[in-house]
Amino acid sequence: MDMGLKGKRALVCASSKGLGLGCARALAAEGVHLVMNARGQDALDAAADTIRAEFGVEVATVAADITTKSGQAAVLEAAGDLDILVTNAGGPPPGVWSDWDRDDFINALDANMLTPIALMKAVLPGMMARGWGRVVNITSQSVKAPIPALGLSNAARTGLTGYVAGTARQVAGKGVTINNLLPGIHATDRAVQLDTGVARAQGITMQEAREQRFATIPAARYGTADEFGAACAFLCSQHAGFIVGQNLLLDGGAVNATL
Ligand code: NAP
Repeated sequence: MDMGLKGKRALVCASSKGLGLGCARALAAEGVHLVMNARGQDALDAAADTIRAEFGVEVATVAADITTKSGQAAVLEAAGDLDILVTNAGGPPPGVWSDWDRDDFINALDANMLTPIALMKAVLPGMMARGWGRVVNITSQSVKAPIPALGLSNAARTGLTGYVAGTARQVAGKGVTINNLLPGIHATDRAVQLDTGVARAQGITMQEAREQRFATIPAARYGTADEFGAACAFLCSQHAGFIVGQNLLLDGGAVNATL
């Protein structure tokens, strides 16, 4: 299927690895020129070089912490007029409800709610004026089904979800869609970290830790960054203009819910 995206311009935040990289690659495969971002320069440069060589699109890179005002200003300046925004950043640390104080919440809100909101506020006026735009926010399955140890993430991402629900309906009439992608467990560095912790704590092998987790997922495996990126590219495509303010779970069926 032709996504109708050739020649569009996208900013993909936090995209040197994992799900952000999956989105960047899928958009590049459709002929989209990219601005990619991450804090670490080396992995970012390596990812950008691979994408340029593989897909022949223009790729600019901005090494910056997207959760800071200066980082946001730097990526927005490099991006200029954008057709597509994919927001993403690292997730907050795990813990227990009684651990977290005001500063922990402010940090989580900054990273996983206020940063995507600031980026949307910056790019939406231009998209609306040009009559076309796509925003995809990478959130988490924790928005639909809370992960108790990730209370900071549950809280911040749900706040973003509420903002998107209203805002998406305010901008849709100008040809701009905003939707959220909700990852369940995917085979990225983060899954390796989680499995390493389980293997150490239980004195089992990594493969055993993985199989334990697979047993909680009806698809009996982890998702891939390529699959995730393909969903992102479709939400950004010309075919998805009537999909507004939705929350799409990519979790292999892990959230046991009818709707
Ligand atoms: P990942 O494989 O660890 O990759 C994270 C990427 O984001 C890297 O490129 C990293 O590069 C960049 N990054 C992190 N913090 C950043 C910041 N402050 N500013 C700019 N770039 C930043 O993670 P992932 O698995 O793709 O996860 C992406 C998001 O989805 C996270 O918020 C995660 O919590 C959420 N999520 C993931 C899963 C999963 O199973 N993978 C499930 C649910 C939710 P640098 O470190 O160099 O900055």
